Amino acid sequence: MAQAFFLDRDGVINVECDYLHDPEQVVLIPGTADALKQIRAAGFLAVVVTNQSGIARGMYSEADTHAVHRRINELLGKEDAQIDAFYLCPHHPGYSGECSCRKPAPGMLLAAARDLQIDLSRSFMVGDRISDLAAGKNAGCRNSYLVRTGYGSNLVEEAAAAGFPVADDLQSAVTAALKEVL
Ligand SMILES: [Mg+2]
Ligand SMILES: [Zn+2]
Repeated sequence: MAQAFFLDRDGVINVECDYLHDPEQVVLIPGTADALKQIRAAGFLAVVVTNQSGIARGMYSEADTHAVHRRINELLGKEDAQIDAFYLCPHHPGYSGECSCRKPAPGMLLAAARDLQIDLSRSFMVGDRISDLAAGKNAGCRNSYLVRTGYGSNLVEEAAAAGFPVADDLQSAVTAALKEVL
């Protein structure tokens, strides 16, 4: 069985930018490539799980989102890092009805676990919103870390009150998570 770091996208690996859908606007958060190398070196997969309700809202297409993901891996590739798989939820309850993949629901993590034979109990979630952390918990991940990048800086107390660990950024979250298991 594989093990994984499930990563929220905006505010965790790239700079938060409302409804990002233009590949030219992708800016990696400093340290992201190093964090992904650390993930790989420890024998974990890096899997992005991202809510993209802008698709349900008609603001951009699923193809636009795939282009953003290709750009992320293109930028990471320059630093010898990569995301192993991207999962997206294109839904929004107000536009496309309820779904089982929009975080905090665990659907994307469960799908990745099926596709990639991931043991969720040995895996981690990292996000900048409480809904990310809840998705990790709902999927049965070992632990879910809030990062202070993106929206996370305003959610530190809420996350801590809910029992979630807090880290400065992806790199420090990965370092702390690996200390739990190595
Ligand atoms: Mg985010
Ligand atoms: Zn969905």
